[in-house]
Amino acid sequence: MSGSSNFERRPIPPAREVREAREARDARMVNGEPRGGLTFRQVVLITAIFVVVTLLVMRSLINGLGSVEGVKGDAKAVTREAPGPADGSEQNGSNGAGEHGAGEHGAGGYDDLKLGELPPGGKYTTKGSGKFRTVGEPGKSFGEGKKKFTYVVEVETTLKASAYGGDDAFAAMVDATLSNPKSWGGDPRFSFQHVDEKKLKNGEEPDLRIQLTSTETTAKTCGDTYGIETSCNYPGERRVVLNEARWVRGAIPFEGDLGAYRQYMINHEVGHGVGHKAHKPCTREGGLAPVMMQQTISLNNAEIYKINPEEPFGHDSKTCRANPWVFPYGPKDS
Ligand SMILES: [Zn+2]
Repeated sequence: MSGSSNFERRPIPPAREVREAREARDARMVNGEPRGGLTFRQVVLITAIFVVVTLLVMRSLINGLGSVEGVKGDAKAVTREAPGPADGSEQNGSNGAGEHGAGEHGAGGYDDLKLGELPPGGKYTTKGSGKFRTVGEPGKSFGEGKKKFTYVVEVETTLKASAYGGDDAFAAMVDATLSNPKSWGGDPRFSFQHVDEKKLKNGEEPDLRIQLTSTETTAKTCGDTYGIETSCNYPGERRVVLNEARWVRGAIPFEGDLGAYRQYMINHEVGHGVGHKAHKPCTREGGLAPVMMQQTISLNNAEIYKINPEEPFGHDSKTCRANPWVFPYGPKDS
């Protein structure tokens, strides 16, 4: 019996618990739906509204950001967006470049560019201030020659160098390029020293100011006779003017190799700065182009002649390979 009474008694607590639980649930539910809360249909509806509102907010945010970018681009007007026929320099390019390339190739890519035209790529600054900030670490000296050139490295104040590693990255590239034995430092006649201008005696000026400049200042300083973005040496003020547009975009003959093109810019313009006034033609078909060849325009003599008919090599059809170095096979030993 005890077993039986146990049998009778045992289900009681669970049954009560079940009942209490059911009552508690019933208290919260009306017609099978939560009472005092929301019906299943309401939950679905609210969720749907929430999703729609979220999507709308996200869309308006995205649109908003887009217009901010647009405004920024317009208001600045100092930096250009990547390529396109609206680019002023490219319109100028067609003035000097003649007919070559125009309408000859399919749309897009390097094939569509005219001779001397700026390749597609990052933003660059058009607006110049004509003022410069000194950048980099002075101190480096290299080369064994008696003719010593002191230099400083400068960036025009309107330029934002952060897109290509900052001011110091530019200065470091100048130092690294010139101190490479394949550069002018390898010429036994020359030596170089990156100096702190403030520490020069008697207000002495450095022999070379190696500057990164806006297109406006470059055109003012170098002229834009050829109607293409160019760099130059301006000996009157001992300036080596490196066009930021080229630093960022390079040139067609270097086929996107920006590092090599930057080395070429430095070596070519400093070449003028250390006394190489004349340009050199390609002398061997398929050989490495001389650093003093105008490789920004072309690696083919006749093509350079089209843009720059003052050059003495006329319609010579030789084509070289791009080369940034003064002594591509090692330093000069004579
Ligand atoms: Zn030149």
